[in-house]
Amino acid sequence: MSTTLTLTRGDITEQAVDAVVNAANSTLLGGGGVDGAIHRRGGPDILEECRALRDGTYFRGLPTGAAVATTAGRLPARWVIHTVGPRFTHQEDRSELLASCYRESLRVADELGARTVAFPAISAGIYGWPMEDAARIAVETVRAAQTSVEEVRFILFDEAAYEAFARQV
Ligand code: ADP
Repeated sequence: MSTTLTLTRGDITEQAVDAVVNAANSTLLGGGGVDGAIHRRGGPDILEECRALRDGTYFRGLPTGAAVATTAGRLPARWVIHTVGPRFTHQEDRSELLASCYRESLRVADELGARTVAFPAISAGIYGWPMEDAARIAVETVRAAQTSVEEVRFILFDEAAYEAFARQV
C-alpha cells in the first residue's frame, strides 16, 4: 500500500492524527522545542509513562535513532511516538541515524495500528541539522519505508521549514 505524504504549516500538538512523533532526547524526561510543547499541551500522563520506560526497558535512556510509544495525554492524537534524533556535526555523517528515526517511528506506528502519523523536522531545531538536508532525509526515508501508515504528515513550524520540505515532495 502506498503512503501519502502531506505538508502542513503549524504546531504538531494540534494535529488530529493517530500518532504524533516527538523529537525527544534520550532522557525521555522532556526538553525544549517539540518535546517541550508536547509535554506542556499533553499534560502529565505522557511524562509519567516516560518515567516508567526509564525505570524499565530504557533505564540507560532511549538510544539515538530508536523510537517508543506512549499515550498522548490531552493531545488530540492517540499516541506519542518518541524518537531521538542525532545532533548535527561536521565531524561525522549521522544521516543514517536520522533516517532510522523515521523508519523506527513508522515501525512503532505499524505495531500500534496507527494509520495517520505527524512528524516534525527531527533534529532540525536544537540539534542543529541543516533544514534542507533534514527535509531530504525525511522525505526519502518515508518514501522508501515499508509501512501500513496511510498518511504521513510533516508539520513544519515556520515558512523556511515548509519551503525546504516542499522542495523535496
Ligand atoms: P531537535 O532537538 O530534534 O532538533 P526541536 O524540537 O528543537 O528538535 O526542533 C525540530 C523542529 O521542530 C524545528 O524545525 C523546530 O522549529 C520545530 N518545532 C518546534 N516546536 C514545534 C511544534 N510545536 N510543532 C511543530 N514543529 C515544531
